[in-house]
Amino acid sequence: MPARTKAAVSSKAARKPAGKAVPKASLKKATAKPAARPHRRRSAADGFMGFTPYPLKKGEPYMNENQRMHFRNILLGWKRELMEEVDRTVHHMQNEAANFPDPNDRATQESEFSLELRTRDRERKLIKKIDEALASVEAGEYGYCDSCGVEIGIRRLEARPTATQCIDCKTLDEIREKQMTG
Ligand SMILES: [Zn+2]
Repeated sequence: MPARTKAAVSSKAARKPAGKAVPKASLKKATAKPAARPHRRRSAADGFMGFTPYPLKKGEPYMNENQRMHFRNILLGWKRELMEEVDRTVHHMQNEAANFPDPNDRATQESEFSLELRTRDRERKLIKKIDEALASVEAGEYGYCDSCGVEIGIRRLEARPTATQCIDCKTLDEIREKQMTG
């Protein structure tokens, strides 16, 4: 390993805070998108809002039948929304194709299409993850961290229904990833 890279890695490691004391903001920075795209529509791929937060009762067992049903509904609803959006995108592109004889218009259209294709790709991957999550609901394995086995938590799962890791393991993975790529 070249000395420069080694130094960079070890200085990063030295700054790494212990455990869960990592501020969220510093993690977000690496993936934060430039603010230069205000016109992008909200996509179903950004998350699912069509549910009421689960009314947690004190002492209620984690992932009991009601909670599993709650997340099954969230996952199915989100999947439906994503599939509808994929359909709309396909139809939109079919309708718009070859509608622009002007080369400049066509260039604009092509970049718009490539954006839509990327979104569709994201959606397809998400649908796959949702299917996996649904299978784990059926298997009674949903809601536990793949890495350490702890409960991922109702609220975190509502925010990220396809989460397979607890926030601590996810955070650690992101730090490691950042060290590998940054
Ligand atoms: Zn974990």
